[in-house]
Amino acid sequence: MIEVHDLHKSFGDLEVLRGIDLEVGAGEVVCVIGPSGSGKSTLLRCVNLLEQPTSGKVVVDGVELTDPECDIDAVRRRIGMVFQQFNLFPHLSVLANVMIAQRKVLRRSAAEAEKIARANLERVGLADKIGAYPAQLSGGQQQRVAIARALAMGPAVMLFDEPTSALDPELVGDVLAVMRSLALDGMTMMVVTHEMSFAREVADRVVFMDGGVIVEEGPAAEVIGAPASERARTFLSRVL
Ligand code: ATP
Ligand code: MG
Repeated sequence: MIEVHDLHKSFGDLEVLRGIDLEVGAGEVVCVIGPSGSGKSTLLRCVNLLEQPTSGKVVVDGVELTDPECDIDAVRRRIGMVFQQFNLFPHLSVLANVMIAQRKVLRRSAAEAEKIARANLERVGLADKIGAYPAQLSGGQQQRVAIARALAMGPAVMLFDEPTSALDPELVGDVLAVMRSLALDGMTMMVVTHEMSFAREVADRVVFMDGGVIVEEGPAAEVIGAPASERARTFLSRVL
């Protein structure tokens, strides 16, 4: 579903990704872990071309995004992205936040967009908040609205970049529960996270990055439970 081949990304003289090869199969959940600055966000942003790779190939849902002929807007509609910051429109209700891109990007009718928005808000446990405004919600609820908004677009894959790291600890669980249920529903997911217990429980595979390369990858029990590399061991001893 996602294929990354020999991906390189530099910002000026700084080579941030130094040859990444990664495949995420349909329905697979891959968690990406690693120290700050190792290139995790840059990798995720290259997968939907929020960053233009310097070289290499990215294929999502059978379409090569790095092909200059590719209609990137069409592919991006198939890729849901959830960030640390929720980026909701403060002047729009929860329902309107989940409808707006469906209306403007997918050109759905108001009735259809509302029906899909309601179904996805229910899916994330917020059916009773559709009339609220973002400022009236907790951070965890806002993040769940952001997830519902991404799901309403009918994505083939979902990318998460530290979706819980801006949240108070007591709000993290509800967001992880929604992500866990998405995984169980068979969604293809790439998740950058510091939540090692989530990765252990939900990830089919864990990728440990350091210095712009994948140092280790494999089942969580191996990469987190019994890392082979010194670098992974050092990182995990700090975060666990
Ligand atoms: P964190 O865990 O702190 O989120 P990360 O693994 O996500 O870290 P990235 O955000 O991918 O790391 O950044 C990797 C490196 O690339 C860092 O040194 C960062 O300063 C640099 N970098 C990222 N984006 C840009 C940019 N737009 N311009 C210049 N340098 C950048
Ligand atoms: Mg990051």
